[in-house]
Amino acid sequence: MIEQPLRRLPITSPPAPYESLESYLSRLERINHLPLGALRRWTATSAKAKAKYNQFTSVTIDIAKVSILSGIPESTLRQAITGFMPDEDRRLLQPQQRPACPRCVHRAGGAVLCRHPFHYFTCLRHRTLVGGRAWGHPIEGPHSHLDLSLVPEVFSTQRRHRQLIRRYGHPTMADALVISEQWFEYFVQRHGMLNRSRTRITRLLGPKPGRLSIDSPAHVISYRPELVSLAGILAAPHWRAIAAAPETRARFYQEIDRITNLHGYEPITKQDPIHHWIQSLEPRRRSTLARFTEFDELFQNQ
Ligand SMILES: [Zn+2]
Repeated sequence: MIEQPLRRLPITSPPAPYESLESYLSRLERINHLPLGALRRWTATSAKAKAKYNQFTSVTIDIAKVSILSGIPESTLRQAITGFMPDEDRRLLQPQQRPACPRCVHRAGGAVLCRHPFHYFTCLRHRTLVGGRAWGHPIEGPHSHLDLSLVPEVFSTQRRHRQLIRRYGHPTMADALVISEQWFEYFVQRHGMLNRSRTRITRLLGPKPGRLSIDSPAHVISYRPELVSLAGILAAPHWRAIAAAPETRARFYQEIDRITNLHGYEPITKQDPIHHWIQSLEPRRRSTLARFTEFDELFQNQ
């Protein structure tokens, strides 16, 4: 069969920031009344790629063809669409696809699914919940009925999270956030909610919120400020050094008390994720001390 040369589609739309390639192609199909999967076939990099129905990356989809069909420059597509981003940039995004803020994409012509950066939890412009990662579970949304203006600290938390990423780097903050999430899950299961979380849930849902699952949006929001603060100290070299040294460790636990408004916290079981995290620091501390000793010996010998 002779293939027709590609032309610009009658109706096009720019990609939303962090939109998935699958979402973008489906959206162009929908607004142009094309059969499902047509664009995936037309833009496949090879006959072999056409068979890979579930893969939407630059390996299977030709960015030049998408550029012709959409009328959008390749550089813009590469910047916005996660499937066209380099692997190292994609690793810094949440693993799950989430619907974009509905008010931001109301002209997009249907649902827009994105893989947002780790810190992105709310649309600061429209003050809506757009999802995030909560203990490995997706947050239901984005059409949450929750009025986030009742918990304005979640917005400042998002700005603070972005600053922490700039200061410590994406990979360090991503690791720290995972440990922080594990610690909150561990803590809530054994000791119940923090008082601050209860207060936020009351503000969001009233005095009788009923039973909330651990990954319900209100529950996840209720911990967000403390979750990010804890991740911030887990990522900070200053606090890591304090936590690693047995003689200063009590100060680190006091800092957790300050963040969470607890009194006298310290890990009492080996299951506590903070206990594991401290153990993981200790060998590094020993090797650092060993290096200092080597330096000392080097200078003494000169
Ligand atoms: Zn928005």
